[in-house]
Amino acid sequence: MTNALSQMLAARDWILADGATGTNLFNMGLQSGDAPEMWNDEHPDRIELLYKQAVDAGSDLFLTNSFGGNAARLKLHGAQKRARELSRISAEIGREVADRYDRPVIVAGSVGPTGEIMAPMGALTHELAVEIFHEQAEGLKEGGADVLWLETISAPEEYKAAAEAFKLADIPWCGTMSFDTAGRTMMGLTSADMVNMVDKLGNTPLAYGANCGVGASDLLRTVLGFVAQGSERPIIAKGNAGIPKYHDGHIHYDGTPDLMADYAVLARDAGATIIGGCCGTMPEHLSKMREALETRPRGERPTLDQITDALGAFSSAADGTGDDTPAPRRNRRRRA
Ligand SMILES: [Zn+2]
Repeated sequence: MTNALSQMLAARDWILADGATGTNLFNMGLQSGDAPEMWNDEHPDRIELLYKQAVDAGSDLFLTNSFGGNAARLKLHGAQKRARELSRISAEIGREVADRYDRPVIVAGSVGPTGEIMAPMGALTHELAVEIFHEQAEGLKEGGADVLWLETISAPEEYKAAAEAFKLADIPWCGTMSFDTAGRTMMGLTSADMVNMVDKLGNTPLAYGANCGVGASDLLRTVLGFVAQGSERPIIAKGNAGIPKYHDGHIHYDGTPDLMADYAVLARDAGATIIGGCCGTMPEHLSKMREALETRPRGERPTLDQITDALGAFSSAADGTGDDTPAPRRNRRRRA
């Protein structure tokens, strides 16, 4: 099966994805507690600008404004009936923006977690999770997304339910998890566990990887963990622009554009193919990342020390797998 992303993956050494959605929308006036997906309908001009800024800064691929656009999340805003519609609009705006450029630009339909705990620990059954993801997937597909993009997942059960839903929608996909708890996902998955899980899926993703989490350093340690498993599947690195710090009443990420440029090159050298940012990553970061990927030659796979020298200390001594050499527990960062 060929589609825009597999063609790009076949033709390119690296692909620059986009940066933050939330941080950029907050800068445009989104209030904390609001559902960003409402803006697809209420302020399409701002969503168009969000996408355009990423592509103008050099992104080859951007995510749609539909992270919380599933019925379970929208229910918190009384909009559970609008999941398919709001997702469709997010992709329609994306399609329009992407098709204006004379280079290929991929529209990736963002699908975030349901926000609920899955059975057996929680109340959300596998069947219902598949239904929720399927509804959103159909909306994104209708709107013209090239691929779906599952992100910030912690539970393997949820990742599997989404994979099944995307098969029902018959659209290729990518999927990342968030390793934010001392090298593991909140539900305890390690980088090695994720590779094993992905390889066993009935409907495998075009690419898999990590997004968000703690800082850029931790994210690259996770990428090295994926690479160590020896899978050929393309790896996604979408790390936050540094560490969140609470400052003057708002959250600020301490990663400079130059730091993210170093991160992008280290991510590529570590073995990632699709490289972008997550929270705190603005267009100015993306421009620097693009420039660095285009101008700096490919290097050796970085060591953990090279990563911390360039990007700062890890948030935890070990990466959660238990068989690495623990880094010294210096500068342990507090979570904001
Ligand atoms: Zn993030």
